[in-house]
Amino acid sequence: MIDLRSDTVTRPSAAMLDAMMTAETGDDVYRDDPTVQALEAEAARLSGKAAALFFPTGTQANLVALLSHCQRGDEYIVGQQAHNYKYEAGGAAVLGSIQPQPISHAEDGSLPLHEIIAAIKPDDIHFARTRLLSLENTHHGKVLPLSYLEQAWQLTRTHNLALHIDGARIFNAVVAQKIALTDIARYCDTLTICLSKGLGTPVGSLLCGDSAYIETARRWRKMTGGGMRQAGILAAAGLYALQHNVDRLQEDHDNAAWLGEQLRAAGIEVLNQHTNMLFVKVPEAQVNALKAWMTERGVALSVGPVTRIVTHLDVDRTDLTQLVAHWQAFLRQR
Ligand SMILES: *Cc1c(COP(=O)(O)O)cnc(C)c1O
Repeated sequence: MIDLRSDTVTRPSAAMLDAMMTAETGDDVYRDDPTVQALEAEAARLSGKAAALFFPTGTQANLVALLSHCQRGDEYIVGQQAHNYKYEAGGAAVLGSIQPQPISHAEDGSLPLHEIIAAIKPDDIHFARTRLLSLENTHHGKVLPLSYLEQAWQLTRTHNLALHIDGARIFNAVVAQKIALTDIARYCDTLTICLSKGLGTPVGSLLCGDSAYIETARRWRKMTGGGMRQAGILAAAGLYALQHNVDRLQEDHDNAAWLGEQLRAAGIEVLNQHTNMLFVKVPEAQVNALKAWMTERGVALSVGPVTRIVTHLDVDRTDLTQLVAHWQAFLRQR
């Protein structure tokens, strides 16, 4: 099967499984797991933050990030399409009584600075207290420019907000910009990183920040059920991924760009392609038939009027060549 629905579908490689099998473990709630500690230390080093904390999922890492920044009755400014607003079941509102203040994304995935400033509430009993700006990088594959991040950072310093980056795919930005993670992380207080997307682990995310913040987050993680015991077997996969699967993200980006060219050449409307994601327009009348056509041919694709295609370490050029051939055959028989 060729699965292009998401980069979350990647499976652990034999070498990654081997690293997991041989991991040294301990009870991480007692802070006894050396492999979890090594992974957290590595994430702290790579991000230039003082500390990091390992989570089973990115959703929980983002939730705990918000709970650690905001009190009940505080609010965070966030993108209308951001994962930690739209796709996390309203967790911050449900579990933290934290009010989201969503604003629309610009075409490049950023949140316009003047819109952020306009959304900040004055210190007045009528309003929730605006505490945090949350950005997503990459957003729908789009890399936020460093110049934008620097301006957003300055804005938050001026207006006394914290800045969190949901960096589920931050290493795609790092690789695309040919920079270090610290070059991005210097413009945020806290950062989440997903290990189970293009980096290829079965589970795992990291939250990076200063030491006091991470201690606060450790309590919230425990409260939300994320304190894991012999989690070293999972952390070992994360360490393996950080060592072996970061630079290769460039292949995913190259594959996505190549696929975009091939689809365009086949007369298919590619709306945009950034890093490892493509968005393709499918005429309404073709949606169901295309989905069935691809399923019959062993291709998993989230077909819709706007179809998102995601490249990752478990798809290669041969797979993509097949996808293009199937799509062309589909169009020919109509
Ligand atoms: C995938 C993702 C997350 C975390 O998702 P989990 O499935 O809970 O690990 C967070 N933010 C963004 C932008 C994501 O794409």
